[in-house]
Amino acid sequence: MISFENSDLIKEQQRYAESIALERIRPLARYYDAYEHEHEIPWDFVRFIWDTGRKGLDALMPGAEVPDEPFMLQIHTSEMISWGDVGFFMCLPWPALGGNAIQNTGTEEQKNRLTERFRGERPTWTCMALTESHCGSDSSAIRTRAVRDGDGWVLNGEKLFVTSARKALEESEGFMVVWATTDPGAGRSAIRPFLVEAGNPGVRIMKLENKLGLRASDTAVVILEDCRIPLENLLGGGEKGFKGAMATFDSARPAAASSGLGIARATIDFVKEELGRQGVTIRYALPRRLLTAIERDVIDMETEWRAAWLLTVRAAWMVDRGIPSTVESSMSKVKAGEAVTRITQKGIELMGPLGYSERMMLEKWMRDGKIIDLFEGTGQINRLVIARRILGYSGRDLK
Ligand SMILES: Cc1cc2nc3c(=O)[nH]c(=O)nc-3n(C[C@H](O)[C@H](O)[C@H](O)COP(=O)(O)OP(=O)(O)OC[C@H]3O[C@@H](n4cnc5c(N)ncnc54)[C@H](O)[C@@H]3O)c2cc1C
Repeated sequence: MISFENSDLIKEQQRYAESIALERIRPLARYYDAYEHEHEIPWDFVRFIWDTGRKGLDALMPGAEVPDEPFMLQIHTSEMISWGDVGFFMCLPWPALGGNAIQNTGTEEQKNRLTERFRGERPTWTCMALTESHCGSDSSAIRTRAVRDGDGWVLNGEKLFVTSARKALEESEGFMVVWATTDPGAGRSAIRPFLVEAGNPGVRIMKLENKLGLRASDTAVVILEDCRIPLENLLGGGEKGFKGAMATFDSARPAAASSGLGIARATIDFVKEELGRQGVTIRYALPRRLLTAIERDVIDMETEWRAAWLLTVRAAWMVDRGIPSTVESSMSKVKAGEAVTRITQKGIELMGPLGYSERMMLEKWMRDGKIIDLFEGTGQINRLVIARRILGYSGRDLK
């Protein structure tokens, strides 16, 4: 049974995340949005998180003592931090998508290496590179090559839209998980994950993207040119292939959903506060026919948020128990992507021209929120995933 009562640890971490979101993130959010790439990493903030936020981070580490429900903890924390600013959430020094890939595909030794890195003195980031210029949704078509050469592997290719690549590869001693094919003619069966460490001379960042939203977070084009890595950097020793990428998304999608719902809740909280200042209160107890249009809109926003949140909680609950959650994880992200898009647009509509201006944060939240429907599988692709599973079709049957 899913319990709707959070554990003491989750409550404690939520309070901690709330104080960070309110005091340390919100005040910087506009600046980092306005000066994409021109700003320094907010080192004060990052070091503070690194030094004080360990319990929350530890919970996501392999072998951590902490809680029974690491993913439940994660979605509550990411929702709260993203309420402060989703771009900052993407900048947190924590295992993120690259760490998730290692958790899902790595050997015990490789997982321990990840843990050690995150217990070190210096803040560290990871990233994961799957998308290429000709394929994102159809990730089984990747062309980045991995060739066995003596005591190592040599990688060649170009990866697009790699979140936090600059922080992982240039600003810290982090690493990147690269998905590459060992045989371009063999489709998904030849795809394997490889670990590329910062400082490898065969990897470089070619370009940083300028984006609509999420502008505090770097997103890069990464070139792998005769990038030599040791044999032991093949994740899972070659046992884990394309299914590992999909498993990575099963656990990452509820986290993406929760961060979108943080933006959506920020919008709802702000709109209600602002309406309150203008003398409008929401009369929840009235029958719907007696409500004003504005009251109905706000209640609809809250209902949609709640529905998306419950799907997200269900997916995290399943991930924590090792229950296959492909359908539920995709559902949570589809619903959260739609919810945050609709709620942020409605927020602007309710506030009128001021909502469209930079005097309020609403226009930023609308720009930021759209990403939830795009990365880690677009809304359409996640719908395909759900349909295939429910109807029992393969990827070939239903494209
Ligand atoms: C800010 C940001 C951060 C990102 N971070 C990362 C990262 O860290 N690592 C990484 O590897 N990638 C990352 N991505 C890439 C992202 O995951 C891909 O952009 C996404 O999967 C879509 O792939 P694509 O760009 O090739 O679009 P396409 O696959 O070309 O899709 C274009 C449109 O066509 C639709 N479409 C495609 N195929 C179908 C189909 N079969 N049926 C119906 N509709 C379809 C899509 O839904 C979409 O609307 C990031 C992207 C962004 C914008």
